[in-house]
Amino acid sequence: MDFDLSEEQEDFRRAVRDFAEEVIRPRAEEMDRLEEFPLDIAKQMGELGLFGLPFPEEYGGQGADFLTFCIAVEELARIDSSMAITLEAAVGLGATPIFAEGTEDQKQRWLAPMCRGEILGAFGLTEPGGGSDAGATRTTARLEDGEWVINGSKAFITNSGTEISALCVITAVTGDEGEGRKEISAIIVPSGTPGFEVGRSYRKVGWRASDTHELSFNDCRVPEENLLGERGKGFANFLRTLDDGRIAIGALGVGLAQGCLEESVKYATERHAFNRPIAGFQAIQFKIADMKVAVETARLATYKAAWLKDRGRPYKAAASIAKLYASEVAVTSAREALQVHGGYGYMEEFPVARYYRDSKVLEIGEGTNEIQRIVIARDLGLPGTEL
Ligand SMILES: Cc1cc2nc3c(=O)[nH]c(=O)nc-3n(C[C@H](O)[C@H](O)[C@H](O)COP(=O)(O)OP(=O)(O)OC[C@H]3O[C@@H](n4cnc5c(N)ncnc54)[C@H](O)[C@@H]3O)c2cc1C
Repeated sequence: MDFDLSEEQEDFRRAVRDFAEEVIRPRAEEMDRLEEFPLDIAKQMGELGLFGLPFPEEYGGQGADFLTFCIAVEELARIDSSMAITLEAAVGLGATPIFAEGTEDQKQRWLAPMCRGEILGAFGLTEPGGGSDAGATRTTARLEDGEWVINGSKAFITNSGTEISALCVITAVTGDEGEGRKEISAIIVPSGTPGFEVGRSYRKVGWRASDTHELSFNDCRVPEENLLGERGKGFANFLRTLDDGRIAIGALGVGLAQGCLEESVKYATERHAFNRPIAGFQAIQFKIADMKVAVETARLATYKAAWLKDRGRPYKAAASIAKLYASEVAVTSAREALQVHGGYGYMEEFPVARYYRDSKVLEIGEGTNEIQRIVIARDLGLPGTEL
């Protein structure tokens, strides 16, 4: 067993950390307050090559492994979860389906500019009527004169309405497989296609500088060749995409919890009560020690899942374990970090207030934690876990 990252991975971590410290940290509070997606920062992330990390060089990617991508997400989340989810969703949800299922033409047209950070892709699975029960998709696409005619809507779609959002890959019912089973396919819908409307930004509890919209499709027509992957395999392919995304959400949780730990150590050392730093009280020390234990174990679970994926080994359950555990560690660490800060922790001037708001969604996105527990129980062979 080797717990060391390679020299290349360590250098890369330092480079992303420096970028996050120098470019994102000074802006994080304001971006969150104004609920503005910072296009200039996303462009700089593109110049650093972050959006192409796990994709081959022939498509403009960096050819790095998935663990390296997770390190990037972790380092951004240590400072700001909005930019971390922007990267995670762009790569894990926007580009991965095209890389995994796209034709050579689709990859050249869409994946290459995504890798360079020139455009963002979105992933439209969730609908207003349900996310966990994703097979209950109501959006339809019927083939007519060589075009898909799409009708329906999608909810909570990340990176779907920025100035550089260029497409959304959606799932839609394209037929009936018999015995009440829907045929669900994935279709690429370019932004600006008539009938494809991007709704107003949601007002969110956290991730406020990230871009999230409801989308609607009214007789929206795209060419038949915009089908992504095999007809009828859209749902299965999307579920595979989510396995990768779950590891990266684990990394996001690890980064956020690491940020909470560092902010807590700093504040507890500086803040005095009863003539000593509050870090001198065992009650505070134990909170911080528990945070350290949690963040280290969440990091191990996340890196192990990425390591399994990088070696081509099965990683579905490991991805769910990482996502489930790291998201809960993030929520607990944010709550305890706020407590260490006392009343100031409840004020937005201190980053822990933002971390507290940003943490909760990690237990919801890319499959709720209830769904992760079902995946893990199913992996153990427990009955009644079919969804
Ligand atoms: C900020 C944000 C960004 C997002 N970005 C995207 C995106 O880019 N693309 C995308 O497709 N989606 C996205 N989502 C949607 C997200 O994946 C869903 O919100 C999530 O999957 C849950 O679906 P739901 O909200 O419909 O909740 P529901 O499925 O209605 O669940 C409600 C509650 O019931 C529980 N539940 C449901 N079924 C079961 C069951 N069988 N057993 C036990 N408990 C169950 C859930 O765990 C949850 O607690 C985003 C969500 C948010 C908040």
